[in-house]
Amino acid sequence: MKIGFNKPYLTGQETHYIEDAVKRGKISGNGYYTKLCQDYFENTFGFKKALLTTSCTDALEMCAMLANIKQGDEVIMPSFTFVSTAIAFIRQGANIVFADSYSNNPNIDATKIETLITSKTKAIVVVHYAGVSCDMDTIMSIASRYNLIVIEDAAQAISSKYKGKPLGSIGHMAAFSFHETKNIISGEGGLLTINDDRFINRAEIIWEKGTNRAEFFRGEVNKYGWVDTGSSFLPSEIISAFLWAQIENIDDIQNKRLAHWHYYHNHLNQWANDNQIKIMPIPEKETNNGHIFYLVCNSEQQRSDLIKHLKMCDIDAVFHYLSLHASDYYKDRHDGRVLLNSDKFANQLLRLPMFYELDVECVVNNIITFNG
Ligand SMILES: *Cc1c(COP(=O)(O)O)cnc(C)c1O
Repeated sequence: MKIGFNKPYLTGQETHYIEDAVKRGKISGNGYYTKLCQDYFENTFGFKKALLTTSCTDALEMCAMLANIKQGDEVIMPSFTFVSTAIAFIRQGANIVFADSYSNNPNIDATKIETLITSKTKAIVVVHYAGVSCDMDTIMSIASRYNLIVIEDAAQAISSKYKGKPLGSIGHMAAFSFHETKNIISGEGGLLTINDDRFINRAEIIWEKGTNRAEFFRGEVNKYGWVDTGSSFLPSEIISAFLWAQIENIDDIQNKRLAHWHYYHNHLNQWANDNQIKIMPIPEKETNNGHIFYLVCNSEQQRSDLIKHLKMCDIDAVFHYLSLHASDYYKDRHDGRVLLNSDKFANQLLRLPMFYELDVECVVNNIITFNG
């Protein structure tokens, strides 16, 4: 039987809660299930404010608006990331200054950030690749010295930690994704978290189409109206109800993915060594949430050969990002710095199938028949 790269996992309660949301008679946003989900995230992970959004991309757009990014401002972020990380800031008129990854880890190389800072720099956006934390101590201390805003693209990082602190609770604000390829899902969906009081009020306003509707419903003002910029960022109750079914099973989902992850790690070590392939290391100071298990092949050719080999076994393994600094859209605006590690991960990193119902033994048995 074919093994795809991802298969969305359903807990079985999704349609039950959706039906309940419909019966409650309010299916637009910011209702019963939205509150259940937001309270869960605030109480479990210690985010000061959690607002559900229709995607992580939307949450990142809100971050760019809240950080007041304007034409010509500079924003530092890794080149090895998804388009959304950059596009949310491009829409505000930012110039993106792309940073390289570490040589042994796709996350932004924190030791290179300081040299990229100019008088126009406004924010640093970090991406916790594969749900493994960036070097947040270094990054937060640079940011405080230069008075910069730190935004965590925590799309892949739900329930991961850095030195005991949940990811998404460390920067000034953060964005998570519940796209069907992530650990917990709602089809499309996301979450904005705010950890700095200065941004909370405005976040609610931007979320509710530039109105102070949230304050009004809490009885804090006696009428509501247009007070700021904003958009329609909140998901309907139907989406939130789906997400609630996933949240109820989050521990089971994470444990299952971690078990697959460790099976890969234990059983591919020898094979990888024999073929000069590196396997994703076990994070040290940080935790792992089993979002991705990746290999780094010794060349682009070896990666193509391995993908082909697995295709023959009816298994889908897929590479990941192409460096954004070299993209058609941005290459002429990039300042010309060579980002070797980002390009290496673009050309040599390979992700193995990872999802709840995965037959991980079968994948491993087929991989280890590859020599090259
Ligand atoms: C998935 C992902 C996104 C986009 O998430 P959406 O919910 O699809 O908008 C952004 N950044 C990273 C790093 C991602 O992995």
